[in-house]
Amino acid sequence: PPAPHPDDEAARRLDRAHVFHSWSAQAHLDPLVVAGGSGVHVWDHAGRRYLDFSSQLVNTNIGHQHPRVVAAIQEQAGRLATIAPSTAALVRGEAAERVLAHAPAGISKVFFTNGGADANENAIRMARLHTGRDKVVSHYRSYHGNTGAAVVATGDWRRVPNEYARGHVHVFGPYAYRSEFWSTSPEQEAERALHHLERVIQSEGPASVAAILLETIPGTAGVLVPPPGYLPGVREIADRYGIVLILDEVMAGFGRTGHWLALDAFDVVPDLVTFAKGVNSGYVPAGGVMISEEIARTFDERVFPGGLTYSGHPLAMAAIVASLDAMADEGVVANAAAVGREVLAPGLAALAERNPLVGDVRGLGVFWALELVRDRASREPVDAATMGRIKAGALARGLLPFVAENRVHVVPPCVIGAADAATGVEILGDVLDAVAADVL
Ligand code: PLP
Repeated sequence: PPAPHPDDEAARRLDRAHVFHSWSAQAHLDPLVVAGGSGVHVWDHAGRRYLDFSSQLVNTNIGHQHPRVVAAIQEQAGRLATIAPSTAALVRGEAAERVLAHAPAGISKVFFTNGGADANENAIRMARLHTGRDKVVSHYRSYHGNTGAAVVATGDWRRVPNEYARGHVHVFGPYAYRSEFWSTSPEQEAERALHHLERVIQSEGPASVAAILLETIPGTAGVLVPPPGYLPGVREIADRYGIVLILDEVMAGFGRTGHWLALDAFDVVPDLVTFAKGVNSGYVPAGGVMISEEIARTFDERVFPGGLTYSGHPLAMAAIVASLDAMADEGVVANAAAVGREVLAPGLAALAERNPLVGDVRGLGVFWALELVRDRASREPVDAATMGRIKAGALARGLLPFVAENRVHVVPPCVIGAADAATGVEILGDVLDAVAADVL
């Protein structure tokens, strides 16, 4: 191991003394110190390197310190570091144009936000004002962000201590490995999930439902790739009852799936699309809502009652323009598709075949989850202690994993090469083999 570096110690000491962390009891944290990064690697001050199989919070799609994005932010900072959202700034218009180049048909405007939560917050607001209705239907297995309505639209445990917003209804979405519908095929799972969704909407009173808000592929909930027919079926239900369809592409969007947007793979056109993370890989915080012409028209003569001091912040916009241009020029999205198809899909399938801890493997592009179980027949999830050992084992071998509940999500930057992807899968396989030998 490299010699200890005083800055690692200082980072840890100051963090523990003064930094209050997200989603955590504060007393027992031991955060990884990161001093720098490049491409698919990060390192600490001592020079300990990690292959980033997490993309941090699944956001550094273009990798760390991409030179074009860093230079664009530096140039913009030199020119105009900040400006009010009410101004017309060239870089903001260019960022909107770049984003809309990847939008589905009929979507013509962008409202920029600071991140993903406030993107969903404002999409919900638009849907409510556009329809004159209140309720928002979303999945239990979802994460939509940590603000008023977004966290209550969220279905996972984080909603429960935060339920101060009203009008939120949840349904079970398709999840073949742990079906809520006793289904035995993807077709059945889609059909029954759609039936459940429609019955809930009918029972809630369709005329009270403003929006259906879904992650195109629920990400944090476990990369739950929807079965064929599900999202087109949701679109039909939304149309039948005059409900706005909002697709949350915050995690799945901008290359992660090997498509520009995940919805490109599912034959569905939403009314609103929320995005953040991969749009500029989080180099400067940014998110937004892509808005259909019809919903945008609602606010042609009527005031849109929402805004943010940093909506369309020039540094964030410069990072969007440079990221999307670099991704296009360098074939980053095609790379994500190829690495998924040629390395991750076969590599993770082989791992699942030999290691009894792996109950299910699912994903596409550079967006995968391994679901770990104590027993393949009962599908009982492995416990938190086992997941802790897997995480520690990966870090000790120089792999930075993304661990959630009983799953390892394999979510490297979209720029990862085949060799690094194969190395990561090999390390993960070694770690899982060692843990399986011990706990099973
Ligand atoms: N929506 C989805 C699908 C997400 O994965 C996230 C963050 O993980 C969010 C929304 C919230 O984004 P942010 O943390 O930028 O507010």
